[in-house]
Amino acid sequence: MSKPRRLEGKVAIITGAASGIGEAAAKLFVENGAFVVVADIQEELGLKVVASIAGPDVDRAIYKYCDVTVEKQVEETVAFAIEKYGTLDIMFSNAGIMSSWESILDMDMEEGFDRTMAVNLRGPALCIKHAARAMVKRQVRGSIICTASIASVLGGLCPIAYNTSKHGLVGLVRSAASELGKHGIRVNCVSPYIVATPQSISWMSSAMGINNASGSEVELLASSAANMKGVALKAKHVAEAALFLASDESSVYISGHNLVVDGGFTVVDNSIA
Ligand code: NAD
Repeated sequence: MSKPRRLEGKVAIITGAASGIGEAAAKLFVENGAFVVVADIQEELGLKVVASIAGPDVDRAIYKYCDVTVEKQVEETVAFAIEKYGTLDIMFSNAGIMSSWESILDMDMEEGFDRTMAVNLRGPALCIKHAARAMVKRQVRGSIICTASIASVLGGLCPIAYNTSKHGLVGLVRSAASELGKHGIRVNCVSPYIVATPQSISWMSSAMGINNASGSEVELLASSAANMKGVALKAKHVAEAALFLASDESSVYISGHNLVVDGGFTVVDNSIA
């Protein structure tokens, strides 16, 4: 018996969908019957993702260049989804960057701090703003999901600008959820533990002093530090959490949450482990 398609006919925009978690979500959402706009600044990779997921049903996914820090481009991406597919039900604001390791004592305020805030905080704010405007206008009881991180609840795991942006993102999501509930729009976060993607591979390589670590090395390091020992978290597992938040299964009252996908890592008191 075939599995039920949990997003049948829904229209989604996924930012940062040319790679990693966004790519896995684009694939999973299409498998579940959604029409997906793959929004990213990496055109070549975005087009490859579309070609690999849409298959013979070429209309199921489409690439759109979108730098989430530029308001006009976010607004145009929302308009593009509506023009192409008729509506907008889901915004998965997933694009994000990692900042480099630095002490607050000599933090680079432009490249380190402002750039990280622009992509990781301003970007989701613009995605929420323009998706919600379109949903309110069309009376769509939509779902907006943002990718935060376990760095949204821990202080020292990742570089300071990144931690700060992800803590801020949870505040943004909670505030937007509180305002948009009256329109039937839900806003939630997913907060993954370490997943081997280009972003984490480059971050782990510099953190561990390994030159060009491979995906499997990152998975091994991450899973050995995990609470659930020996199990590697994959992009697909995070996409499944986003799918739940996007689908009607979470449609009654699930809003303003930070769904942490970390195998219990952040609830263990590591100081006494
Ligand atoms: P990734 O590098 O594989 O993908 C990120 C994508 O975002 C890339 O395709 C990139 O081109 C795109 N992007 C970057 N800046 C952009 C911009 N200004 N506008 C539009 N697109 C842009 O990384 P990933 O690990 O899949 O990251 C996805 C999200 O997950 C990020 O928000 C990240 O912070 C978060 N996250 C990742 C991990 C992890 O371990 N990989 C853990 C927790 C949270």
